[in-house]
Amino acid sequence: MKKILDQALAGLESQLEPEEFQRWLRPLKYRSGTDRNIRIQVPNIFFKKWITDRYLHKIRAAVCDLCGRDVTLELVCGPTQVSAGETSTKAPVESISGDQPPLVSSGINEKYTFSNFVVGASNQLAHAASLAVANATAVYNPLFIYGGSGLGKTHILNAIGNHLLKNNPKMTVAYRTSEQFTNELIEALRSEHMSDFRQKYRSIDALFIDDIHFIGGKERTQEEFFYTFNSLYEADKQIVLSSDKMPKDIPDLEDRLRSRFEGGLFADIAPPDQETKVAILSRKAEEEGIPLSNEVAFYLASQQETNIRVLEGYLARLGAYASLHNAPVELDMAQKILGMFIEADQKLITVDHILKVAASFFNVKVADLKSAKKQKAVAAPRQAAMYMARQLTHMSTIEIGQRFGGRDHSTVIHAVKKVTTRMQQDHSFTRTIQELERTIRDSVTRPDYSQAG
Ligand code: ADP
Ligand code: MG
Repeated sequence: MKKILDQALAGLESQLEPEEFQRWLRPLKYRSGTDRNIRIQVPNIFFKKWITDRYLHKIRAAVCDLCGRDVTLELVCGPTQVSAGETSTKAPVESISGDQPPLVSSGINEKYTFSNFVVGASNQLAHAASLAVANATAVYNPLFIYGGSGLGKTHILNAIGNHLLKNNPKMTVAYRTSEQFTNELIEALRSEHMSDFRQKYRSIDALFIDDIHFIGGKERTQEEFFYTFNSLYEADKQIVLSSDKMPKDIPDLEDRLRSRFEGGLFADIAPPDQETKVAILSRKAEEEGIPLSNEVAFYLASQQETNIRVLEGYLARLGAYASLHNAPVELDMAQKILGMFIEADQKLITVDHILKVAASFFNVKVADLKSAKKQKAVAAPRQAAMYMARQLTHMSTIEIGQRFGGRDHSTVIHAVKKVTTRMQQDHSFTRTIQELERTIRDSVTRPDYSQAG
């Protein structure tokens, strides 16, 4: 079961922001398990609540998928910080039961609803369009939600799904990230269950594909999605897509799909203004039971950061501090804690930084590292740089591939393997890599996190 859990977590790594994964899922430790249950250790109570609210259903879905049966998860606090009366929480019961799995699991996250979605000038249009779709499907088809990372796309897709299911529990709703869709497709191809796959996706009443931009460059997935899209569309079934790129900017997207995406309603979410940020943060704080004064809420919202996921992360850290010290966070303390974290986040090693350092280290151009050139003089440094990116950033292989000139994640995996193997065989190569690592590390300064408590 430990393997299963590790695999499930590794699968989630590619779906989450690297920073988010590192902060919340990396610390989870397998403790014990049976065929039907896994106990997972978390560092503290605050963590436990955070994981339960946000990630547990995802981890559980991944575990169940891997096992092919229903498995419950329990979170237990680590030995150092268990408080009296602290017991484990059962995973929220999902509608997917092990005995009779429905043909299509909804994949909808119940946490994200319209009632906890704060409407402001930046997301008003997307909200209105989503509500219209939720109340009368197929009026706008497809609905294409476009917006930057952390602006609420996933939230709003799930909100539509929850609304539909509430009004009509019999409806077949399927929410998938484009990566999940791709993986299901690959699995169906591998196991020669393509007709099941097709039948399944064509029986759906409302299909949500989150982060559709990742479909770029994946020919087989695009082809299959095209047929799914058409058959749902022709049957007047609702399709909702989200993307952080406009259809015209999704790289290597087939024209026929692009024109389908452009054929419905396009609604964008802009970065939130300060008032909206305050409203969202206050609401989250209330939900999480984090004492947050207006003053501190305004201070958080005054940050340039517009990614709400990141702002929530700041709030969570203040919350952790407050619960640890059993006191609300005062403004000056918030400034101090946050200043440290923000600075740290900004200074963390980025792929761009690695590209720059590696280019000068190997005496090649950054453009060469990002290019498709196959000559050894460029290919070897490129592989080393990819290896470094994997070691020193929290990014998934998919994201690293994107930053290396839009390469497939398999290229990154291959590079990492190649460098690892060569390091085992060639000592002078190992020294080169170590030297490169030091150069990269030394050229950024990491602030001290330890004072933050
Ligand atoms: P995206 O999918 O666009 O990257 P998410 O939907 O995952 O962003 O949103 C990131 C976080 O911010 C989630 O926890 C979400 O609930 C929250 N969030 C975003 N927009 C809003 C909003 N308008 N009201 C309440 N919470 C929001
Ligand atoms: Mg999202």
